[in-house]
Amino acid sequence: MGVDSGLPDFRGNQGFWNAYPPFRKLGLSFVALANPRWFRDDPSLAWGFYGHRYNLYRATPPHDGFARLARWGAETEHGAFVFTSNVDGQFQRAGFAADRIVECHGTLDVWQCTRRCAAGPFPAPGRDVAVDLATFRAAAPLPACPACGALARPNVLMFGDDAWDGQRSVDQQRRLARWLAALDAAGAPLAIVECGAGTAVPTVRAFGEALAAETAADVDPHQRSRARRATRRHQRRRTRARRAGRDRRLPRARLTATAAGVKRSSHQVVVNQPAWTRLSK
Ligand SMILES: [Zn+2]
Repeated sequence: MGVDSGLPDFRGNQGFWNAYPPFRKLGLSFVALANPRWFRDDPSLAWGFYGHRYNLYRATPPHDGFARLARWGAETEHGAFVFTSNVDGQFQRAGFAADRIVECHGTLDVWQCTRRCAAGPFPAPGRDVAVDLATFRAAAPLPACPACGALARPNVLMFGDDAWDGQRSVDQQRRLARWLAALDAAGAPLAIVECGAGTAVPTVRAFGEALAAETAADVDPHQRSRARRATRRHQRRRTRARRAGRDRRLPRARLTATAAGVKRSSHQVVVNQPAWTRLSK
């Protein structure tokens, strides 16, 4: 989704380094940088990376695809719920209600204390982080916890991250569960609209598939078994590709098998993964 708003594509080292040339010189990939150790070992580098993204996400208006999804949601009786691993806050900026969004990997618009003091996550201050675009280092003073003054970090789940405060995401997921339960109680069918969820970080794809397999039961048993068979097929292909050491892009899971069974959809879940595929595909 984000790529269509003009946000950089982090797919592959070349794509990432084209957007962030100084990190090419340092030999640091996206995965290497998206690690909480930098907040301990080199805070100005850590905030150079996350601060630049924070500034960019704030300054980038969401593209028309977001408005279209919002319109689809608004036209249905029970509205829509977003499940995203994006951390760019674009759904909120596009006007989706904050209590109808799950950000399963957190967001750059909320920060937390690196010391995990009692303050808990807090809203980012809403002004740019000063980043030197030649070195991608953040200038002092670096963002700090308003309660204890220790270094702050984004409330974003990083690779190898055991210090992420995930409570906000848990609360969001509880709201989604309550919404799904309400739909179930009303006997209302569910449509899942998947935008760009890939297999590189498969959280969103897996969530969509599990939900499809589960809720298809209420629509049509035939559709349910089709969705389950498609999910199993997809998992087998993924396992084979992994065993063969192939990092190939797998075809989209057949969520359409479920969606096709929903003739009178009155609400939808939008599942979305960052910056990695285009809405139009
Ligand atoms: Zn603190």
